[in-house]
Amino acid sequence: MKIFVPKETADGETRVAASPDTVKKLIGRGAAIVVEAGAGARSRVTDEAFEAAGATIGSASDAGTADVVLKVRRPAADELSAYKSGAVVIAIMDPYGEDAALKAMADAGILAFAMELMPRITRAQVMDVLSSQANLAGYRAVIDAAHEFDRAFPMMMTAAGTVPAARIFVMGAGVAGLQAIATARRLGAVVTATDVRPAAKEQVESLGAKFIAVEDDEFKAAETAGGYAKEMSKEYQAKQAELVASHIAKQDIVITTALIPGRPAPKLVSAEMVAAMRPGSLLVDLAVERGGNVEGAVAGQIAEVGPARIIGYANVPGRVSASASLLYAKNLSAFLETMLDKESSALKIDFDDELVKATLLTRDGKVVHPNFAKAAA
Ligand code: NAD
Repeated sequence: MKIFVPKETADGETRVAASPDTVKKLIGRGAAIVVEAGAGARSRVTDEAFEAAGATIGSASDAGTADVVLKVRRPAADELSAYKSGAVVIAIMDPYGEDAALKAMADAGILAFAMELMPRITRAQVMDVLSSQANLAGYRAVIDAAHEFDRAFPMMMTAAGTVPAARIFVMGAGVAGLQAIATARRLGAVVTATDVRPAAKEQVESLGAKFIAVEDDEFKAAETAGGYAKEMSKEYQAKQAELVASHIAKQDIVITTALIPGRPAPKLVSAEMVAAMRPGSLLVDLAVERGGNVEGAVAGQIAEVGPARIIGYANVPGRVSASASLLYAKNLSAFLETMLDKESSALKIDFDDELVKATLLTRDGKVVHPNFAKAAA
């Protein structure tokens, strides 16, 4: 079995889908691994480090003979045309609303696996790319805010006077939000947070932050079996927006992380709320690439809006590339290992395995995933 790890071609992508550790592990399982020259450079992994782990350094043309391609981003058209039919391609596929891209992958005859569709069950925790990447994004959101902020985070009582602690409000207390809370607390900020899931309240409080929410019956009923947020009613959203609006006006920094799987990000901060903030305030919108939680956020930019600046960096995990790649590579290799025959180490995909069923997008020239097959037909 030949595995190929390309240099990512998407704009601004700094991550790589393998690490020296995962290379070693997969070679131990009988694979031959070719890493494209320079693939790890932006994650501080040298070709020599991959070689020392047992990989061969190759070029983009090695894609054509690979049985498995490990990638960060969905393959572009020119990459697809290079793969052999029947190749397994594992990446963050970003499949929602991307019917043409799904069809292109089906037409290329590849087995495309979308890591972000991995079920959040105990067995698959080690393969959970949403968690591994969101955790780092939450951390980096606070660091980016601290870097742009014109004041200090911790309270400082000095002979020359007292610097007040920064007030930070985190909206969406999932994996990214909880790490943002923890990071902001470590830097000495006074932190509040909100979420539509009641379970988040306890988690927020356990990190030493205060929970802000309209806690009515709908809020209490909102937690779904999978632990994801469902879309809240218009009435709830209005009540929550009112509470949040008055809270935001008193904050120095707002960090938004709210996502609903498969849907555009919910709008949580309106232009009016931004306008009511104090001069020098900051917002960090981690959902900006999914439509944004903050009105006025621009992907890839810091937007100046009235008294505030909205940080809308794209690919925030990629801003902590070395750590993000290390964890992402592990997520991928753990998944690939479940598809290897125990004795022969050959690729042996069990199409009835729930992990395969949940993540496989295309097979035998068709879009096969139940959530996307109809739209792509
Ligand atoms: P996510 O990235 O899909 O969303 C981020 C957060 O935004 C979520 O907490 C969500 O509830 C919140 N949100 C959505 N709409 C909102 C709104 N209108 N206002 C405020 N907040 C809103 O979620 P995630 O970080 O991937 O995690 C979601 C949940 O899944 C968490 O409880 C997490 O602990 C759980 N989880 C479980 C596992 C596992 O069991 N293996 C793994 C990872 C995460």
